[in-house]
Amino acid sequence: MDIDVLTLFPRIFEGPLEESILKRAQESGRVQVRVHNLRDYTHDKHRVVDDRPYGGGPGMLMKPEPIFEAVEKLQRNDSCVVLMTPQGAPFTQARAQAFAKKPHVIIICGHYEGVDERVRQALVHEEVSIGDYVLTNGALAAAVVVDAVVRLLPGVLGHEDGAADDSFATGLLEGPQYTRPPEFRGMRVPEVLLSGDHGAVARWRAEQAESRTKQRRPDLLK
Ligand code: SAM
Repeated sequence: MDIDVLTLFPRIFEGPLEESILKRAQESGRVQVRVHNLRDYTHDKHRVVDDRPYGGGPGMLMKPEPIFEAVEKLQRNDSCVVLMTPQGAPFTQARAQAFAKKPHVIIICGHYEGVDERVRQALVHEEVSIGDYVLTNGALAAAVVVDAVVRLLPGVLGHEDGAADDSFATGLLEGPQYTRPPEFRGMRVPEVLLSGDHGAVARWRAEQAESRTKQRRPDLLK
């Protein structure tokens, strides 16, 4: 999979892309993530990317020209162009799974008061929000999307089913998990997990996932 990110703050991606699973996924060639500075798509001396909104009002807007130029340079026949915006569709595990099937995703990160509306009109296939709050710019939100998508690509996690039991993947939250030691500060691991009875373990996990979801996220059961 190829991912191109358009942002005014490429350095925000350095940490997330250079650690752990995202780093290894790039090194193994399972994903290629390229981060582009939108200022590189300006042609004036001061590399201006913003301007005042028509009609007045506070703040600045991102100009359309650098974004159009960047997308038109990078776009292929199979590209999906995504705009990060708090007004977009909620970013869910289902949407992450859908993105993970796409060969090429271009992610546009806004800043200031957002982007000129013509970007949405002419370039964007999907608008995505990571939650009902407003960030200063789209780079952190795009890093969240890249992380959630890349871990779903085949071979990126340790084994093929690595993400299959995760919360939301099954429609439920994952149940509680334990590792060694079997007793820690008076808290014992449930006996069933030590029993070696795989059927009993699977039933216990399914019950725990169901009851945890009912308790914490009843909306997922509707
Ligand atoms: N004025 C815009 C509005 O009210 O919809 C908010 C602009 S926000 C300060 C600047 C940029 O941050 C947005 O263009 C978007 O790219 C990004 N952003 C902020 N919150 C976000 C969220 N919850 N999800 C995705 N992107 C977000």
